[in-house]
Amino acid sequence: MALSGMEIFKLLPKTNCRECGMATCIAFAMSLAADKIELEACPYVSDEAKAKLAQAEAPPIKLVTIGSGDQALKIGGESVMFRHDKRFNNPTGLAICISDTASEADLDARLKRFQRVRYCRMGCELRAELVAIKNELQDARKFAHTVETVRKGSDARIILMSDDPEIMAAGLKACAGSKPLICSATSANAESMIELAAAHDCPLVAKAQGLEELTALSSRLADAGVQEIVLDTGARTVREALADQVHIRRAAIHQAVESLSYPTITFPCEMTNDLSMETLIAAMFIAKYAGIVVLSDFQAESIFPLLLERMELFSDPQDPLMTPEGVYEIGAPDRHAPVLLASSWALTYYNLTLAAEVSRTPIFLCFQEISEPDVMCWCHHCLRSTQKGKFDAPSTIRFIKDCKLEERVDHRKLVISARNAQFSAELESALPEWEIIVGPGEASQLTGFLPELAEE
Ligand code: SF4
Repeated sequence: MALSGMEIFKLLPKTNCRECGMATCIAFAMSLAADKIELEACPYVSDEAKAKLAQAEAPPIKLVTIGSGDQALKIGGESVMFRHDKRFNNPTGLAICISDTASEADLDARLKRFQRVRYCRMGCELRAELVAIKNELQDARKFAHTVETVRKGSDARIILMSDDPEIMAAGLKACAGSKPLICSATSANAESMIELAAAHDCPLVAKAQGLEELTALSSRLADAGVQEIVLDTGARTVREALADQVHIRRAAIHQAVESLSYPTITFPCEMTNDLSMETLIAAMFIAKYAGIVVLSDFQAESIFPLLLERMELFSDPQDPLMTPEGVYEIGAPDRHAPVLLASSWALTYYNLTLAAEVSRTPIFLCFQEISEPDVMCWCHHCLRSTQKGKFDAPSTIRFIKDCKLEERVDHRKLVISARNAQFSAELESALPEWEIIVGPGEASQLTGFLPELAEE
């Protein structure tokens, strides 16, 4: 359970030395409780206090990792019932289910679509991450062949679906080293599946018929040393599955029920034969509270709204969504393309990209990460909102120099928003080789401005 500010305060040195940047230890404690500062900011916390705080701060829903290296997908790690309480941390993994009965042509087509359907929104890549390979033929060689084909034809993280330990062993051998999710251990095969999970260092699904059996099974797996468990209540009707999801989240967050403190897997693919209805069901489980949603398949038009919903839901409501700092090419800018400076607020990225596309003017966007993004934003909303922060010219000058724009463009014109007009002289004197052009105050006005600038 997370500690309150006062409980954290009792573990601090209480010297009010201010080295953490806060005026007092109590202020530091309150900020730590609100997740606004890192514990490492105080150099004087004892090891004992650190251990207590780490234990208290561990999320009630345990973290499970599927895949390895750069391909690792984390699910779980959640600590709240509702996003507005704090935030949701690890986005629901989206999987498509492929049976080992699929023909080579069907398999190839579905893997190609899996690889192709992805979107870039506000600098983030949106896509499905997982392929669930379902054993239906009871043929270990065919299952292993399907697993190999999925591995060769995609970069998907893998879920192996079989209740037969021998077939599961063949599947694990076919994707050795990729840390797939083993799906599933049941009360009938638990011992063999535990051995496989331990031998291959893989997370394991506990599948039961109902919450009571699931509680017992997950305790059995944990007692046997399985640390990464994913819960499947066995419910395959929407009503039952939803009730189970809510019950599990409540039990983990409010009652600290250890055996239910794991992420869950849900199967909309087994709840309907209609792709549109399946998409709606999946949308519900993304919101309530699935760690993984397994789809029968997807088309671009069915997965896109799910990806957008997931992106919104798992963004931090207390922090604006940011695009990583850097120089972005919008369109295919050549060496004469306009260069714009903006804050790395994702909304700004969206607005400026839209303006470039509508005006058919490729541009370079220099996004600087700053603590008060609305200072350098080009949004209509921000122009009307109270400007809280201050434009920090020295850090912007450093950022522009680091961008090495002279290696990308032949001209030396840098466009800033009208809201930063008063700093154009300061920027120009610090960057004498650059002409600072004060553009419109909001992105919508750039559609006329950019083509004219590009023609100069
Ligand atoms: Fe207190 Fe530590 Fe901050 Fe010093 S650095 S004021 S001891 S919390």
